Amino acid sequence: MNYDVLIGLEMHCEISETNTKVFSGARNSFTENSNTNIRPVDMAFPGTLPVVNKEAVKKSLMASMILGCEQPEYLYFERKNYYYPDLPKGFQITQETKPAPIGSYGKLVYECNGEEKTVRINNLHLEEDAASSDHYPSGSRINYNRAGVPLLELVTEPDFHSADEAVAFLETMRSIYQYAGISEADSKKGQVRCDVNVSIMEKGVDASDPNNWGTKVEIKNVNSFGGVKDAINYEIQRQLDLKEDGKYDEMEQQTRRWDEESGTTIYMRSKVDAIDYKYFVEPNIPKLKLSKKWLDEIRNNLPRLASERKETYINEYGISNYDATILVKEKPVAEFFEECIDLGANPKSASNWITTNLLGSLNKLDLTINDIKLTPSMLVSLIKLVDNKEISSKQAKEVFAECLTSGKEPKDIVEEKGMKQMSDEGEIVRIANEVLDENPDVIVQYKNGRNNVVDYLVGQIMKKTRGTANPSIARSTMASEIEKR
Ligand code: ADP
Ligand code: MG
Repeated sequence: MNYDVLIGLEMHCEISETNTKVFSGARNSFTENSNTNIRPVDMAFPGTLPVVNKEAVKKSLMASMILGCEQPEYLYFERKNYYYPDLPKGFQITQETKPAPIGSYGKLVYECNGEEKTVRINNLHLEEDAASSDHYPSGSRINYNRAGVPLLELVTEPDFHSADEAVAFLETMRSIYQYAGISEADSKKGQVRCDVNVSIMEKGVDASDPNNWGTKVEIKNVNSFGGVKDAINYEIQRQLDLKEDGKYDEMEQQTRRWDEESGTTIYMRSKVDAIDYKYFVEPNIPKLKLSKKWLDEIRNNLPRLASERKETYINEYGISNYDATILVKEKPVAEFFEECIDLGANPKSASNWITTNLLGSLNKLDLTINDIKLTPSMLVSLIKLVDNKEISSKQAKEVFAECLTSGKEPKDIVEEKGMKQMSDEGEIVRIANEVLDENPDVIVQYKNGRNNVVDYLVGQIMKKTRGTANPSIARSTMASEIEKR
């Protein structure tokens, strides 16, 4: 390809971890029945006034700090004026870029296909979400549950050069929002929506000069990471085709939408008819001074993120980079792992159990770690049963499968199934000799150099003990007992 791709993202993520909405006392939740989490202010009743939710500001400031942004001295909000049926006020309370959004000029280092990349963050701002429309065959109804849900909008510089980079960044952001307790960032719940800006430019031209950038095409409201990937790839190809056909220079700056069904982007409007939002400062919310003391307090208590935990796993617990990456991918899994260690588990055993058996089973059963009855303390007892050679690792897998769904203690399952592994060495020596007495011809074969007959003899011990003999003790015992013959 003779062209470079420039991609800039606007990521909207609902802050899900506050009790109430950003400007009202209604519960911050919109998954219940329509129109059950609302207050008059969410519906723009005359005379109602917004009150800023301190927790939402705090969560936004945390994100701002994690992204290395500057925080403003004073926080204030602005009105973005437009009409839409699900926007009863006729404006959205937001923060325009120019004066003082909650974060400006940061950057984030993220990993894409094993390589470190950096993206510059232009700004991060706090705003309210709009209501939503429920469509029925008989017509549409407005559901105000979502009106006033706190929303963080993050705007990057056009620093991504492929769909993979854009998606890797979004996944990193989702992990940050989850680990920091800001948001579940679950696109399936409609908590994340992205606007994707794409342009192409001649290869080798200086991309640090905006004058060299190609014409920006904005794709609005893509609501899954898979959609972001497909939309970008489709749009790159569409623009390359225009170049090829000599029609690129006629293309105007425009807004398109992603159509999941056809897998294409569809023209909505050109920059020429861009909406004039007539921003002005929201007069019903006073300017808020962000004290240095509060900012320091927030900064000093920022939670440990995935990248930091991963380093600990590798450097302190000796876990491989590969496994550590798996362990930190989802916060509840990392917490499960850390709890196992706090309860005294060997980190490597815990990591092996979680990355292979646990995640494998969850995958197979289509469950999440929150859906299962197995607790860290149960896994730790199971690991100890194996380490103390009370059960074999094969038996442990059986116990594990039952723990997962029954919630029974491993010890009880072992008891119930009569699984206890036999590690009584005196008893194993006795059985080994019984086996040898019964197999004089095999001893002869051994003396003639056929060392592998030991496998057969160990098998006989296992048979006599109905599989309960500790296999490694059985093997070492047989190896030394046969030498004595
Ligand atoms: P607008 O004023 O139209 O909202 P901005 O300059 O604020 O445009 O940029 C919005 C988003 O578009 C940002 O994420 C930015 O990185 C991205 N962007 C700007 N120019 C380009 C371009 N030529 N190609 C790709 N993305 C771009
Ligand atoms: Mg914009």
